[in-house]
Amino acid sequence: MATDRRDVIVVGGGIIGCLTAYLLSREGLKVTIVEADAVASHASGFAFGGLGPLEGAGIPDPLLGFSVWCLERHASLSPELEEASGVDTQFHLRDRLILAFDDSEARRYKEEIKWQKDVKGFHVEWLDQSDVLKVEPRANPACLGASYAKGTGAIEAYRYNLAAAQAAEKFGAEILLRRVTGLISQGGRCSGVTLETGRLEAGAVVLAVGPWSQQASSWCGVEIPVSPLKGQVIRLQLTTDPMRASLNYAGSYAASKPDGLIWAGTTEEEAGFDVGITTAARDKIMGDLLKMAPSLADAELVQQTACLRPISADGLPIVGKVPGWENLYVGTGSGRKGILWSTGMCHGLADLIVKGSTEVPGVSSLDPARFSGG
Ligand SMILES: Cc1cc2nc3c(=O)[nH]c(=O)nc-3n(C[C@H](O)[C@H](O)[C@H](O)COP(=O)(O)OP(=O)(O)OC[C@H]3O[C@@H](n4cnc5c(N)ncnc54)[C@H](O)[C@@H]3O)c2cc1C
Repeated sequence: MATDRRDVIVVGGGIIGCLTAYLLSREGLKVTIVEADAVASHASGFAFGGLGPLEGAGIPDPLLGFSVWCLERHASLSPELEEASGVDTQFHLRDRLILAFDDSEARRYKEEIKWQKDVKGFHVEWLDQSDVLKVEPRANPACLGASYAKGTGAIEAYRYNLAAAQAAEKFGAEILLRRVTGLISQGGRCSGVTLETGRLEAGAVVLAVGPWSQQASSWCGVEIPVSPLKGQVIRLQLTTDPMRASLNYAGSYAASKPDGLIWAGTTEEEAGFDVGITTAARDKIMGDLLKMAPSLADAELVQQTACLRPISADGLPIVGKVPGWENLYVGTGSGRKGILWSTGMCHGLADLIVKGSTEVPGVSSLDPARFSGG
């Protein structure tokens, strides 16, 4: 096994690992990505790819500024990655509707619109039922109305992960398909990783192992409180025109994708590391889909996928130096928004490694030290 020295080893070939490797390689650092299975073979390769910075965990406080920054960076990163890798991530802006079926949902969305409509770069308003149907004729006419946003985005997650990996390689990064089993350390300094056979040395190590972060906790002796949250998605073939906007209801979603299919999700299941698809999940997702768009009852189911989100103990991402270590970094815990947040998380990590600080807004609130009273 090679032992020649690298500047940085990135453990994990999901989006957090590959994009961090790209940003570091672009700065001239010698980077190795070590991936146990295959690049984009877990959540980052199967995610729905919605880029919605106006709702979800940590939004608006403390992560609205961070989330908006992340979406803006997607817009500039997409052509940058395509130029370096030849892979089109199919980033695009897409209108979204969050449907309300009763008064309390309508009140809640109207309340949120009060601050959302002031966020620069977006247009957010309440639409009554008849206007909802003008935006998306497939929406359920039984809805009371919807929160409508223009300016939110979408990307093809698998292509994005692949583009980041290939762009990193273009700037000199290498990708090794090996399982990391531990860290090589001298006091608080990490000088590399151990593999099932052999070891690799580096000046710094980034842990980007998604839901497997608990394993990394045992390597470094610091609790990284992340667990897997299973999510399933179905893909359906439609013989008529594609949907115009994404539909959302009670944490579920549906939209037409550039592959011509409608993707609909999702579930939140505590099932350990099991990634089997289930009929119960399929039925739940179909139920939500038909509530949002009853006319899709005839669409043909062509694929069902399941994968694991990395969920942190407080629902916010974990980005920064591992407490007690000089040169060991972690990027994980992105939950349901890891594709959106990848740009801010990875720029934050790369900045901390290269410059010791970052100007990405909000990254300081993601410091892993928050779990150890730091
Ligand atoms: C159903 C579903 C839908 C989603 N939809 C969206 C969405 O619409 N928008 C959005 O923003 N986010 C979405 N997400 C969330 C997003 O997919 C995740 O937050 C993100 O992909 C996590 O990226 P990651 O790189 O941290 O983890 P992963 O993609 O899991 O990558 C971690 C990698 O580490 C590797 N690894 C683990 N242990 C080792 C080891 N010992 N040695 C070497 N390698 C190792 C794994 O093999 C894996 O490849 C969705 C997630 C799911 C499940």
